[in-house]
Amino acid sequence: MNKKENKFQYIYEKEIFTEAYDFFFQDSNIFIGAGPCSLESEAQIFQTAELLLSNNISYIRCFPYKIRSDPYSFQGLQTEGIPIIKKLKQKYPKLKIISEVYSQEQFHSLEGITDIFQIGTRFMYHRELIELLGKKNSPCILKRGFQATVSEWLLSSEYYLARGGRKIILCERGIRTFESSVRNSFDITSILSVREQSKIPVIIDPSHILGKTSGIEAISKAALIAGYNGLLIETHPIPLQALSDKKQQLTFEQFKLFLNFLK
Ligand code: PEP
Ligand code: MN
Repeated sequence: MNKKENKFQYIYEKEIFTEAYDFFFQDSNIFIGAGPCSLESEAQIFQTAELLLSNNISYIRCFPYKIRSDPYSFQGLQTEGIPIIKKLKQKYPKLKIISEVYSQEQFHSLEGITDIFQIGTRFMYHRELIELLGKKNSPCILKRGFQATVSEWLLSSEYYLARGGRKIILCERGIRTFESSVRNSFDITSILSVREQSKIPVIIDPSHILGKTSGIEAISKAALIAGYNGLLIETHPIPLQALSDKKQQLTFEQFKLFLNFLK
């Protein structure tokens, strides 16, 4: 990579994001992606698929690999989830499947199966993986590192763009501060800082910001008013029985009410 005068070469170019807008905004001009924290079973993800499609949403969270802070907690179905994802795709071809990957090996195991690859907050600095996604022009949701500045987050997206990737969307999921009453602190001004420099699409993940379901409507509405381009929401058929993030996943009923609220 050659360095020009500016730190950034790509994020300033408005036209560079045309492909990203075309890809991620097929349902509406507000991106909505939703689904469970972890893929747990065929029944769970098929029920979620029905919920989303009946509400005209085609971007579904379906994570077989689950990065956890606690090594003794559920780590996802891992490769056992892959046949379920294939079935999901076969049964609901309209869906665009989002999965998080945090190694090149995981990416290759889902290449051609999953439609969108999420880089989670802990891996915003995983340069090799981000460059690989860029090289393949694989659709990517790049979350903000919980300790990263906006500038570092944008530089991370440059690794993807510099390798030729064009289908990228950023996701603000809160940063770590001394405040502990919510899971993460929502840095609502990040959209203003990004927009000073770039047209890159940016969404928020209110579920991981809050760590609970209450307040999700207000935070989401505030984000959309501030200029974010969409939302990534956790929903589960029976949140209390979820194998990860029980407290922050909406029931399907709550999810439908939430969509009505947004309208
Ligand atoms: C997730 O989306 O499931 C997740 C773990 O998010 P984050 O990387 O933002 O913590
Ligand atoms: Mn989660």
